[in-house]
Amino acid sequence: MKTIEIHTPTQNSVITCERGSFQKYARDFLGGHQNFVLTDSNVHAIYGQEIAEVFGNTPVYILPAGEENKNQKNLFSILQAMIDAGLHRNSYLFALGGGVVGDIGGLAAALYMRGIHCVQIPTTLLAQVDSSVGGKTAVDMGKVKNVVGAFYQPEAVLVDGSFLKTLPAREIRCGLGEIIKYGALNPSILDNLLENADRLFDLDYLSEITSDCIAHKAEVVRLDEREQNLRKSLNMGHTTAHALELNYGDLSHGEFVLVGMYYELKIAVAEGLATAEYADLLSGLILRVLGEAPRYAGLEKAAEFARLDKKNAASDVVSMIVPAGYGVYAELKLPFEKYRDYLVRFAGK
Ligand code: ADP
Ligand code: ZN
Repeated sequence: MKTIEIHTPTQNSVITCERGSFQKYARDFLGGHQNFVLTDSNVHAIYGQEIAEVFGNTPVYILPAGEENKNQKNLFSILQAMIDAGLHRNSYLFALGGGVVGDIGGLAAALYMRGIHCVQIPTTLLAQVDSSVGGKTAVDMGKVKNVVGAFYQPEAVLVDGSFLKTLPAREIRCGLGEIIKYGALNPSILDNLLENADRLFDLDYLSEITSDCIAHKAEVVRLDEREQNLRKSLNMGHTTAHALELNYGDLSHGEFVLVGMYYELKIAVAEGLATAEYADLLSGLILRVLGEAPRYAGLEKAAEFARLDKKNAASDVVSMIVPAGYGVYAELKLPFEKYRDYLVRFAGK
């Protein structure tokens, strides 16, 4: 078992990384009060029996699976179900699922009676390694992702690697996108990934490396919960990833993070921020997961999405966190036209 704590001014969050932690520890939070479980239809279809064993007669809300359900209508429907279940200030909401369940469940916990206890039980690699930790919660509105949300730290996160065995390969690749991002931010994680490059799809290895990534994230969140400075580093590769994701949408979020890092690495070399040797090393790892880097037509339109990214300070400048050296990142601000031209040159077909 590995335990990682995040102390922020508002909450102490304890993250337990251990295979079997769901069965072992979730019931410890039940106490004598009314609680609530949120999950999604796919997770419930596989783990319904275990959920019933652990939570007994606690109400279970089953959200239809899929990102399109992370919306305000479902948020208010969950809140209504929480009222109907008679939850009070001491109640716990258990968010058991992938990033969608974690994001909407975390927000429901933050809003209900101005905040009740929340335990995150992430079941996808992406949610285990990244989104369940750090207290970002949100729903999408229309096409605008994560636009309504709150910073709300869960009291506990149970990271249980045994959930990974039922994940489709695509979801594993998705989580690997964020894992390699942590490698690009942290030299010892990068050493570890390079040494184990042929075990990237091995579930035992993924459970081990996940706790190292969480430890890195926890330290960043402890120092900068509200993304004033250091936490921005966690957006590495994401400017280009989001632009492509919004325009093409043919890959998962984490796969787009890999594609974003791959092309931003080329931009970093062209701008003299990274060496070609380092670019080869990191690209090699990225391509082990992606196979090959996709090329796109019509990138001018995708580049426009990067222009609208909320991380930019001005509309004619594109800000990016790019890989710059062994586990080192740099903030790069480029005039929009220059960014667009780089993207077309490196990723165009
Ligand atoms: P994210 O990739 O952000 O975690 P989702 O919450 O949408 O995104 O989860 C991705 C998909 O994987 C969803 O269809 C979800 O129902 C499914 N899923 C979540 N956990 C598991 C699991 N342990 N085994 C199989 N499928 C799962
Ligand atoms: Zn991401």
